Amino acid sequence: MCSDIAVYWFRNDLRLGDSPALCSACAASARLLPVYCHDPAEDLPTRWGFARRAGPRRAFLYAAVDDLDAQLRARGSRLLQLRGAPAEVLPALAGAIGATAVVCEEIAAPEEQDAVAALRAAGLTVRTVWQSSLLEPLELPFAVERLPKVFTDFRRALEWSDVAPPAPRAAPTVLPPLPDPVVSLPPSSPAPVQIGERAHAHASFPWWRPDFAGGERAALAHLARYFADDRAQRYKSTRNGLCGIDFSSKFAPWLAQGALSARVAFAALRRHEAARGANESTYWLWFELLWRDYFRFLHLQHGRRLYRACGLNEAAPASGHDPEAFERWCAGRTGHAFIDAAMRELAATGWLSNRMRQIVASYLIHDLGCDWRAGAAWFEAQLVDYDVYSNHGNWLYIAGRGTDPRGGRRFDPDRQAAIHDPDGAYQALWACVD
Ligand code: FAD
Repeated sequence: MCSDIAVYWFRNDLRLGDSPALCSACAASARLLPVYCHDPAEDLPTRWGFARRAGPRRAFLYAAVDDLDAQLRARGSRLLQLRGAPAEVLPALAGAIGATAVVCEEIAAPEEQDAVAALRAAGLTVRTVWQSSLLEPLELPFAVERLPKVFTDFRRALEWSDVAPPAPRAAPTVLPPLPDPVVSLPPSSPAPVQIGERAHAHASFPWWRPDFAGGERAALAHLARYFADDRAQRYKSTRNGLCGIDFSSKFAPWLAQGALSARVAFAALRRHEAARGANESTYWLWFELLWRDYFRFLHLQHGRRLYRACGLNEAAPASGHDPEAFERWCAGRTGHAFIDAAMRELAATGWLSNRMRQIVASYLIHDLGCDWRAGAAWFEAQLVDYDVYSNHGNWLYIAGRGTDPRGGRRFDPDRQAAIHDPDGAYQALWACVD
């Protein structure tokens, strides 16, 4: 059905390539207005007492929004940036331009679902399209309501079934014309984010450099570089590294903002394997991308239940919380040098390796006795790759309130330091960064 005028609302899908939602909006509308909403709620303080989004994540996001605007302009369109809650600004905009529909990606997390429900309650027709996973939920060998409770069973069922990710869709070469008139608003410019010299030199994800900037073009260039050498061939033996640019793929920040589609990343992995050979390391990249899908499907299966203090574990004891210990953890002042190094790295750079994420999350929950939701909120504020599904899923897992068959993970920080930082280099590196 062709609606005359439609709004395409970009959410966590800041790209033109491999976007079934955008393709369908282009095909179905005579005129299309691409929009991004800067929701002030994103910058309000959390219930735990800190701002919801720290500088690095904001700066990385704004770079992606600017890149998207530039790409749209190159295709005869542009991105309208609005300030305000989507439920307020989108109905007003639709009314002003005579739009009959809003098209956007589907996000299966409570706040994002509420935002769509509010638009519908305001009288808008909203069409949502699921597009952030590698695999198509409807092609899984089981109904998503019957998602295996344990990740290994999920992975095995997929591998036995031969289900494969769909091939990525090409970006539209031209977009439908803009409605007339388009309200003109100045583009947003991020407040400059101060980065200390030490953090500059040692950051594992230097998002202020053009080659690590937010947005689809930097994402695709990074992807091409990553698979052009042998990093993927060694991934399994390097992935537990703590610091540096090359020890893991660094796809996550672009995947999180949707500048990179998981299917595009996977197709590049398969091309790399065809050219240079598949091995255990290249397999492990697929394995990790499946974890990403697993947490997405877990949201489709359980929705809001994942957001309760007890998560999926009805029998879990109530979460305790020690606000002072939590504050020390956030500031990297717990007194445990390994934990403090990681928390300082996170605050200074917006990045933390997977290994250190596991260790500091475990420390907060199992050693300091704090509420896992406070830790998840701190990661949400800090991480440049914050992703609602992966963040929530991993925190629940470590807290024993998700789907860990062992009922939660405690990492002994002394043992972990001995294994992963035997000479103390990582601790020394971040010890004096504030
Ligand atoms: P690689 O090691 O190169 O892996 C390739 C891709 O696989 C990643 O980009 C990511 O998309 C996926 N992946 C890898 N490990 C995981 C995992 N454990 N769970 C889900 N997907 C995974 N990842 C996020 O993208 N956003 C988050 O907000 C986030 N929060 C986390 C919180 C905690 C407490 C923990 C323990 C992990 C969290 N992760 C999160 C998962 C993981 O740490 C990051 O995806 C990974 O470190 C990103 O680096 P990379 O892109 O170099 O990953």
